[in-house]
Amino acid sequence: MLPTPIQDLSDKLRYFPGIGSRSSQKLALDVMHLSDEKFGELVVALADAREKVGFCPKCGFFSETENLCAICTNTTRNIMQICLVEKPTDVITMERGQIYRGYYHVLNHLISPLDNIFAENTTVGRLFDVRLSGLFGEGLKGGKNVELILFFKAGFASEATTAYIKERITESGFADRIKITRLATGLPLYYNPDTLDQATMARALEDRREVLY
Ligand SMILES: [Zn+2]
Repeated sequence: MLPTPIQDLSDKLRYFPGIGSRSSQKLALDVMHLSDEKFGELVVALADAREKVGFCPKCGFFSETENLCAICTNTTRNIMQICLVEKPTDVITMERGQIYRGYYHVLNHLISPLDNIFAENTTVGRLFDVRLSGLFGEGLKGGKNVELILFFKAGFASEATTAYIKERITESGFADRIKITRLATGLPLYYNPDTLDQATMARALEDRREVLY
């Protein structure tokens, strides 16, 4: 019924999770109704988002070009807390709680040997070899402790990743100065990080439990 290019656009818009055939067709038709000026702005914004946004070299969250992200450049945050997450979008979920004031470390993957994902496929190495050794080496000589807050979706990969992190802490030489906590309490067992609301996130952070190693 629709001209092929509109149908084609509608099909491509379904690449986005959560966009079904009706929404994608509506969006495709909406594109037809945009003024030339607005259409031009949309095309530029799409290209810019892809070309100008990269990942923070320190924590792995989204950042402009290859610079440090807005969180890492904010010096008012608490350097004694690092929240470990799987994906950059999990940072956005955590920030939604509006009470966390520490920093982040994006692992990119959780360790899952059954899926052939091992420690070297994650950024755990950089966390210990660069960030934590840097922290303990220079700035934290006053005997302060660092809290690693684990924000992982429950499952085998979360357990495997936690076990590996415990092992690295034990080997690190500063085990007595690192505490691990996790946010599982208050979160539904199979939560979807993308849909957690502010109250749930805030409660999950406040009720976090220590993980012993
Ligand atoms: Zn960063």
